[in-house]
Amino acid sequence: MTQPIRERTEEFEREWLAPHAARACESRGRPTAEEEDPVRTVFQRDRDRILHSKSFRRLKHKTQVFISPQGDHYRTRLTHTLEVAQIARTVARALRLNEDLTEAIALGHDVGHTPFGHAGEFALNEAIREARPERRFRHFEQSVRVLTVIENDGRGLNLCYETIEGIGGHSKGTRDLEAELEKDSVGTLEAAVVRISDRIAYLNHDMDDALRAGWIAWEDVPKGIRGLGDTHGRRIGAMVSDLIESSATAPVLRLSNGMRGTLDEMKDFLFDAFYMDYARRFPDVEKAKSLVRSLFCHYVENPGELPPPYQGFDGAVDYVSGMTDRFAVRTFEDLFVPADWGAKGED
Ligand code: MG
Repeated sequence: MTQPIRERTEEFEREWLAPHAARACESRGRPTAEEEDPVRTVFQRDRDRILHSKSFRRLKHKTQVFISPQGDHYRTRLTHTLEVAQIARTVARALRLNEDLTEAIALGHDVGHTPFGHAGEFALNEAIREARPERRFRHFEQSVRVLTVIENDGRGLNLCYETIEGIGGHSKGTRDLEAELEKDSVGTLEAAVVRISDRIAYLNHDMDDALRAGWIAWEDVPKGIRGLGDTHGRRIGAMVSDLIESSATAPVLRLSNGMRGTLDEMKDFLFDAFYMDYARRFPDVEKAKSLVRSLFCHYVENPGELPPPYQGFDGAVDYVSGMTDRFAVRTFEDLFVPADWGAKGED
């Protein structure tokens, strides 16, 4: 009998991948054991399950930063996710890490996002905490819940431990980047690659979108950032190259001191000149927040109106956080906005 393709891929991984890479044949496994696939490794299967999930498809109608932009060239949560996956795969391949695990983590990292981006997340978290002070909402924790509990009609996708760990550890908070990238704090290096790729992706594409929208002007962008290159692609290229070169010989992910400083500068600049300013000045941000809060409170007060299998308080959290922007607006209209009414056949 010929050797299954999967075994050949596993053999290739054993020989080719870096010593500190995650190998599919050494995975800690799934919650429920399954028969091996003849063609794909366990991490390839995880990637495919995420890609084919409903929560992944819904990302196309979820906000990245701009709420309901008129232009077709602004990022959505889906294109953000794809940009993260592309950057992460480039880094993983260059460092001889497991590209399939990296891609699986990248594709799943944001499926727990609420409608309307961080405005929606903020509003939902606030409403949850008012009702249950011991609870909180974080999109990366919800991503794990979506993939392990909600997807596949409530059975979850039975993903490998490494994939779930990489998604659950995902955060782009304000912690020190160096500490975030230490292998010990995130599990696999593949997870660390996705973390930093997420940051490289969102800083660059949010700046690109902010420039496109005229929210910021190129002349106002700090010199150090402009020095990376005058196009979106060159700026990403500079960061990715620095990351690969600085990490080539060490079993941890590193950026040079200079590039780490530039990334921090970019984050500070965008927070002041774009994210905070947008949240303050764009009227739809407050509208989106109150819409999410209204939906959540409605379902907490009327759990009987939740569609199956959603139930109770957790069901309200899962149902509302899983909505796309447009589904949230439609649901709000159905619940709270009087519809036109007229007897059929009359003027
Ligand atoms: Mg992200």
